[in-house]
Amino acid sequence: RLLNSRDTELLERAGRVVPNGVWGHMATRAIGPDYPQFFSKSDGCRVWDADGNEYIDFMCAWGPNVLGYRHAEVDAAALAQMDKGDIGNGPTDKMVELAELLVDTLDHADWTLFQKNGTDATTVCVTIARAATGHRKILVARGAYHGAVPWCSPSLVGVTSEDRAHLILFDYNDITSLDAAIDEAGDDLAGILLTAFKHDVGKDQHLPEKAFLAHARAACDRTGAALILDDVRAGFRLDVRGSWARYGVKPDLAAYSKAIANGWPLAAVAGSERFREGAGKIFTTGSFWYGSAAMAAAVKTVQILRDSDALAHTEAMGERFRAGLSTISARHGFTLRQTGPAQMPMVLFDGDQDLRIANAFCAAALRHGIYLHPKHNMFLCAAHTPDDIDRALEAADGAFADILSAGILAA
Ligand code: PMP
Repeated sequence: RLLNSRDTELLERAGRVVPNGVWGHMATRAIGPDYPQFFSKSDGCRVWDADGNEYIDFMCAWGPNVLGYRHAEVDAAALAQMDKGDIGNGPTDKMVELAELLVDTLDHADWTLFQKNGTDATTVCVTIARAATGHRKILVARGAYHGAVPWCSPSLVGVTSEDRAHLILFDYNDITSLDAAIDEAGDDLAGILLTAFKHDVGKDQHLPEKAFLAHARAACDRTGAALILDDVRAGFRLDVRGSWARYGVKPDLAAYSKAIANGWPLAAVAGSERFREGAGKIFTTGSFWYGSAAMAAAVKTVQILRDSDALAHTEAMGERFRAGLSTISARHGFTLRQTGPAQMPMVLFDGDQDLRIANAFCAAALRHGIYLHPKHNMFLCAAHTPDDIDRALEAADGAFADILSAGILAA
């Protein structure tokens, strides 16, 4: 049983001064009472909850941690910049340095603009697409997450139908449904917005089919619309050149955030020459968007990702975890569906309609010292070592044994 008295106390206090105590994707209400809500520290691939329980972490702050928490070189770069002042009346030289680095590193970018959160970046992409084309319709894949403001929020509470009036839905990887959406947009098509791969919550993940991406690219070339890549979740984790570089398909606009500065707050929009003028026409800004410490952190993060084997290592650790989990689950009589890139694993149990097995397994895993998620894709980072993965697999083995002895059987 986990020690959780401090967590309980913090939740009670928060509940009095913050609606529901906590909000958004990190609220653990949705995944069960065994999850600690509050954390006290993080380091490498480990997190400690408010009661001091230590976990090998497979969420990586839901994506920002790509090199390891408290990465010495990244944090030194950010703190050195902090020492000179993080914000002022405009950008520092770090903005130019970072923009040059991204234009050099991303395979599709001729320019960049910076923000703070992924939602800022996807919203700026959509705004630029509309400004540049003079059209309104944005095509989005059913079930995809692009952020938490009215035009894209997964919740319709507080959202008007007018906010969503110019979205048209299609199914990811389905050319016929994309074509139907393109037809519906007619001569008012501003952009096609796609995540790097299909990574919807609670569903098996799917890599993009090359023919599907090529079809979307051709449709945008034909109509003048923007092909927009939402690389907020996968960017700088799968491939430092952008997540579609391996498919040879270049987006017109792409949104990055999460891993770009290894946890320092930053987002970026990167675009092609054709959209430079549109990007220059819109009004886009924020009080903290020129913060230079996060930009210094991003310069260092992207340089390390570019010049080291960090991402190849992370993928190898993902493969090691996936293979081990597959063997161990089978030994206990469970069949897992492990989908998507190994460094961003989605692990679902066969026949687990109500997530009864996944919830029990993840709660047991917490007690064995690993932090997993029952229905969201997880994240590995460069700080995971083979030894960490092997320890995590031992913990998983214990968790399977626990749920079996508690009477949770494979479906
Ligand atoms: N797009 C995708 C694909 C994301 O995964 C997220 C964050 N989970 C966002 C956009 C929004 O990013 P943020 O939460 O930083 O606003």
